[in-house]
Amino acid sequence: MKKLVVANWKMHDSPEEALWLARAIKRKVGKSGAEVVVCAPSPLTSLLSPIFAGSSVKVGAQDVSVYESGAHTGEVPARLLKASGVTYVIVGHSERRAMGESDEAIAEKMARVSDVKLIPILCVGEETRDGGGNHFGVIERQLRAGLAKVGKKAPPFVVAYEPVWAIGKKADDAMNHMELQETVIFIRKIIVSLFGRSPGLAAPVLYGGSVEETNVGSLMKEGGMQGFLVGHASLNLKAFVA
Ligand code: PEP
Repeated sequence: MKKLVVANWKMHDSPEEALWLARAIKRKVGKSGAEVVVCAPSPLTSLLSPIFAGSSVKVGAQDVSVYESGAHTGEVPARLLKASGVTYVIVGHSERRAMGESDEAIAEKMARVSDVKLIPILCVGEETRDGGGNHFGVIERQLRAGLAKVGKKAPPFVVAYEPVWAIGKKADDAMNHMELQETVIFIRKIIVSLFGRSPGLAAPVLYGGSVEETNVGSLMKEGGMQGFLVGHASLNLKAFVA
Protein backbone atom coordinates (compact mmCIF):
# COMPACT_ATOMS: atom_id res chain seq x y z
CA MET A 1 0.00 0.00 0.00
CA LYS A 2 1.30 3.49 -0.93
CA LYS A 3 2.00 5.74 2.05
CA LEU A 4 -0.56 8.50 2.45
CA VAL A 5 0.51 11.89 3.81
CA VAL A 6 -2.26 14.41 4.44
CA ALA A 7 -1.59 18.09 5.18
CA ASN A 8 -4.16 19.89 7.28
CA TRP A 9 -3.67 23.58 6.59
CA LYS A 10 -6.43 24.41 9.11
CA MET A 11 -7.57 28.05 8.82
CA HIS A 12 -4.53 29.22 6.85
CA ASP A 13 -5.50 32.68 5.70
CA SER A 14 -2.93 33.93 3.19
CA PRO A 15 -3.86 33.07 -0.41
CA GLU A 16 -0.47 34.23 -1.71
CA GLU A 17 1.43 32.00 0.72
CA ALA A 18 -0.93 29.10 0.05
CA LEU A 19 -0.33 29.24 -3.71
CA TRP A 20 3.42 29.54 -3.20
CA LEU A 21 3.42 26.57 -0.82
CA ALA A 22 1.25 24.48 -3.16
CA ARG A 23 3.59 25.08 -6.13
CA ALA A 24 6.60 24.20 -3.99
CA ILE A 25 4.94 21.02 -2.65
CA LYS A 26 4.15 19.94 -6.20
CA ARG A 27 7.76 20.57 -7.28
CA LYS A 28 9.25 18.73 -4.31
CA VAL A 29 6.91 15.76 -3.80
CA GLY A 30 4.64 15.73 -6.86
CA LYS A 31 6.47 12.72 -8.23
CA SER A 32 7.20 10.95 -4.97
CA GLY A 33 6.02 7.40 -4.34
CA ALA A 34 3.62 8.57 -1.63
CA GLU A 35 0.09 9.88 -2.09
CA VAL A 36 0.11 13.46 -0.81
CA VAL A 37 -3.08 15.36 -0.02
CA VAL A 38 -3.39 19.04 0.87
CA CYS A 39 -6.55 19.82 2.86
CA ALA A 40 -7.12 23.54 2.50
CA PRO A 41 -9.86 25.94 3.59
CA SER A 42 -12.75 25.54 1.10
CA PRO A 43 -12.28 28.80 -0.90
CA LEU A 44 -8.74 27.71 -1.78
CA THR A 45 -9.60 24.28 -3.16
CA SER A 46 -10.52 25.42 -6.67
CA LEU A 47 -7.31 27.48 -6.84
CA LEU A 48 -5.17 24.52 -5.80
CA SER A 49 -6.59 21.89 -8.15
CA PRO A 50 -5.03 23.36 -11.38
CA ILE A 51 -1.71 23.70 -9.56
CA PHE A 52 -1.64 20.02 -8.58
CA ALA A 53 -2.96 18.75 -11.93
CA GLY A 54 -0.62 16.19 -13.49
CA SER A 55 1.11 15.41 -10.18
CA SER A 56 0.43 12.86 -7.46
CA VAL A 57 -0.70 15.59 -5.05
CA LYS A 58 -4.45 15.71 -4.42
CA VAL A 59 -6.67 18.45 -3.04
CA GLY A 60 -8.63 17.82 0.16
CA ALA A 61 -11.24 19.74 2.16
CA GLN A 62 -11.43 20.04 5.95
CA ASP A 63 -15.17 19.65 6.44
CA VAL A 64 -18.44 19.18 4.55
CA SER A 65 -22.12 19.80 5.13
CA VAL A 66 -24.40 17.11 6.55
CA TYR A 67 -26.91 18.22 3.93
CA GLU A 68 -26.94 17.18 0.30
CA SER A 69 -28.51 20.46 -0.87
CA GLY A 70 -31.19 22.97 0.13
CA ALA A 71 -31.61 26.19 2.09
CA HIS A 72 -28.72 25.90 4.57
CA THR A 73 -26.86 29.21 4.57
CA GLY A 74 -23.11 28.89 4.92
CA GLU A 75 -22.97 25.15 4.33
CA VAL A 76 -20.72 23.58 1.66
CA PRO A 77 -22.12 20.40 0.09
CA ALA A 78 -19.98 17.43 -0.96
CA ARG A 79 -21.03 17.80 -4.59
CA LEU A 80 -19.58 21.33 -4.72
CA LEU A 81 -16.33 20.17 -3.15
CA LYS A 82 -16.07 17.57 -5.87
CA ALA A 83 -16.72 20.20 -8.55
CA SER A 84 -13.90 22.32 -7.15
CA GLY A 85 -11.37 19.51 -7.62
CA VAL A 86 -11.42 17.92 -4.18
CA THR A 87 -10.62 14.19 -3.79
CA TYR A 88 -10.43 13.72 0.02
CA VAL A 89 -12.48 15.29 2.83
CA ILE A 90 -11.55 15.36 6.52
CA VAL A 91 -14.59 14.44 8.65
CA GLY A 92 -14.90 14.65 12.43
CA HIS A 93 -11.63 16.47 13.16
CA SER A 94 -11.28 16.96 16.92
CA GLU A 95 -11.34 20.74 16.47
CA ARG A 96 -14.81 20.38 14.93
CA ARG A 97 -15.94 17.85 17.52
CA ALA A 98 -14.90 20.43 20.13
CA MET A 99 -17.30 22.89 18.47
CA GLY A 100 -20.14 20.45 19.15
CA GLU A 101 -20.11 18.14 16.14
CA SER A 102 -21.87 14.92 17.16
CA ASP A 103 -21.20 11.30 16.17
CA GLU A 104 -24.53 11.38 14.29
CA ALA A 105 -23.54 14.44 12.24
CA ILE A 106 -20.18 12.83 11.50
CA ALA A 107 -21.91 9.66 10.25
CA GLU A 108 -24.08 11.80 7.93
CA LYS A 109 -21.05 13.66 6.62
CA MET A 110 -19.22 10.38 5.94
CA ALA A 111 -22.23 9.25 3.90
CA ARG A 112 -22.49 12.56 1.98
CA VAL A 113 -18.82 12.35 1.01
CA SER A 114 -19.01 8.69 -0.06
CA ASP A 115 -22.26 9.32 -1.99
CA VAL A 116 -20.42 11.60 -4.42
CA LYS A 117 -17.43 9.23 -4.63
CA LEU A 118 -15.02 11.38 -2.67
CA ILE A 119 -12.81 9.76 -0.03
CA PRO A 120 -13.60 10.69 3.59
CA ILE A 121 -10.85 10.79 6.21
CA LEU A 122 -12.57 9.92 9.49
CA CYS A 123 -10.72 11.41 12.49
CA VAL A 124 -10.97 9.56 15.79
CA GLY A 125 -9.08 9.91 19.04
CA GLU A 126 -9.44 10.21 22.77
CA GLU A 127 -9.05 13.46 24.71
CA THR A 128 -7.07 11.88 27.53
CA ARG A 129 -5.42 8.56 28.40
CA ASP A 130 -5.39 6.88 31.77
CA GLY A 131 -4.15 3.54 33.03
CA GLY A 132 -7.66 2.04 32.77
CA GLY A 133 -7.76 1.81 28.97
CA ASN A 134 -10.93 3.91 28.64
CA HIS A 135 -9.51 5.45 25.47
CA PHE A 136 -10.21 2.20 23.61
CA GLY A 137 -13.92 2.61 24.34
CA VAL A 138 -13.88 6.17 22.97
CA ILE A 139 -12.06 5.16 19.80
CA GLU A 140 -14.38 2.20 19.22
CA ARG A 141 -17.50 4.34 19.70
CA GLN A 142 -16.24 7.03 17.32
CA LEU A 143 -15.27 4.45 14.69
CA ARG A 144 -18.50 2.47 14.80
CA ALA A 145 -20.62 5.63 14.80
CA GLY A 146 -18.62 7.37 12.07
CA LEU A 147 -18.73 4.37 9.75
CA ALA A 148 -22.37 3.48 10.43
CA LYS A 149 -23.80 5.01 7.26
CA VAL A 150 -21.21 4.42 4.56
CA GLY A 151 -22.85 1.14 3.54
CA LYS A 152 -21.87 -2.49 4.08
CA LYS A 153 -19.85 -2.59 0.87
CA ALA A 154 -17.31 -0.19 2.35
CA PRO A 155 -16.51 2.54 -0.16
CA PRO A 156 -12.93 3.85 -0.01
CA PHE A 157 -12.26 5.64 3.27
CA VAL A 158 -9.33 6.54 5.50
CA VAL A 159 -9.13 6.57 9.30
CA ALA A 160 -6.89 9.14 10.98
CA TYR A 161 -6.12 8.30 14.58
CA GLU A 162 -5.47 11.61 16.31
CA PRO A 163 -5.26 11.55 20.10
CA VAL A 164 -6.47 15.03 21.04
CA TRP A 165 -3.85 15.40 23.78
CA ALA A 166 -1.07 15.08 21.19
CA ILE A 167 -2.34 17.62 18.65
CA GLY A 168 -0.61 20.96 18.03
CA LYS A 169 2.39 20.35 20.26
CA LYS A 170 6.06 19.46 19.69
CA ALA A 171 7.54 16.19 18.43
CA ASP A 172 8.36 15.05 21.99
CA ASP A 173 4.67 15.23 22.89
CA ALA A 174 3.58 12.83 20.12
CA MET A 175 2.41 9.38 21.07
CA ASN A 176 4.97 6.73 21.93
CA HIS A 177 5.57 3.96 19.41
CA MET A 178 4.32 1.03 21.49
CA GLU A 179 1.00 2.64 22.33
CA LEU A 180 0.59 3.81 18.76
CA GLN A 181 1.19 0.33 17.37
CA GLU A 182 -1.28 -1.17 19.84
CA THR A 183 -3.93 1.43 18.95
CA VAL A 184 -3.47 1.01 15.19
CA ILE A 185 -3.99 -2.77 15.57
CA PHE A 186 -7.11 -2.10 17.67
CA ILE A 187 -8.50 0.23 14.98
CA ARG A 188 -7.69 -2.25 12.22
CA LYS A 189 -9.52 -5.03 14.08
CA ILE A 190 -12.67 -2.92 14.36
CA ILE A 191 -12.62 -1.96 10.68
CA VAL A 192 -12.20 -5.62 9.70
CA SER A 193 -15.03 -6.64 12.03
CA LEU A 194 -17.30 -4.06 10.38
CA PHE A 195 -16.53 -4.69 6.71
CA GLY A 196 -14.71 -8.00 6.45
CA ARG A 197 -11.11 -8.82 5.79
CA SER A 198 -10.29 -7.40 2.41
CA PRO A 199 -12.11 -4.02 2.54
CA GLY A 200 -11.04 -3.81 6.17
CA LEU A 201 -7.38 -4.21 5.27
CA ALA A 202 -7.64 -1.79 2.32
CA ALA A 203 -8.49 1.28 4.39
CA PRO A 204 -5.35 3.25 5.31
CA VAL A 205 -4.96 4.09 8.99
CA LEU A 206 -3.02 7.32 9.62
CA TYR A 207 -1.55 8.88 12.73
CA GLY A 208 -1.81 12.59 13.53
CA GLY A 209 -0.58 14.53 16.52
CA SER A 210 2.63 16.59 16.60
CA VAL A 211 4.27 14.83 13.69
CA GLU A 212 7.39 16.80 12.79
CA GLU A 213 10.56 16.34 10.80
CA THR A 214 12.35 14.83 13.80
CA ASN A 215 9.86 12.08 14.72
CA VAL A 216 8.25 11.17 11.39
CA GLY A 217 10.82 8.49 10.49
CA SER A 218 10.66 6.58 13.75
CA LEU A 219 6.86 6.82 13.99
CA MET A 220 6.58 5.38 10.48
CA LYS A 221 9.01 2.58 11.23
CA GLU A 222 7.49 1.52 14.55
CA GLY A 223 3.88 2.71 14.50
CA GLY A 224 2.38 0.21 12.06
CA MET A 225 0.17 2.74 10.26
CA GLN A 226 0.04 3.68 6.57
CA GLY A 227 0.79 7.39 6.78
CA PHE A 228 0.19 10.66 8.59
CA LEU A 229 -2.16 13.56 9.01
CA VAL A 230 0.09 16.57 9.59
CA GLY A 231 -1.11 19.86 11.04
CA HIS A 232 1.30 22.67 11.94
CA ALA A 233 4.34 21.08 10.25
CA SER A 234 2.46 20.97 6.92
CA LEU A 235 2.71 24.76 6.64
CA ASN A 236 6.50 24.58 6.80
CA LEU A 237 7.78 23.47 3.40
CA LYS A 238 11.01 21.87 4.64
CA ALA A 239 9.30 19.97 7.44
CA PHE A 240 6.44 18.78 5.25
CA VAL A 241 8.71 17.61 2.45
CA ALA A 242 10.79 15.67 5.01
C1 PEP B 1 -4.18 18.06 13.06
O1 PEP B 1 -4.56 19.22 13.06
O2 PEP B 1 -4.90 17.18 12.59
C2 PEP B 1 -2.85 17.75 13.62
C3 PEP B 1 -2.45 16.50 13.66
O3 PEP B 1 -2.13 18.81 14.05
P1 PEP B 1 -0.59 18.82 14.52
O4 PEP B 1 0.20 18.07 13.49
O5 PEP B 1 -0.26 20.26 14.55
O6 PEP B 1 -0.54 18.16 15.84
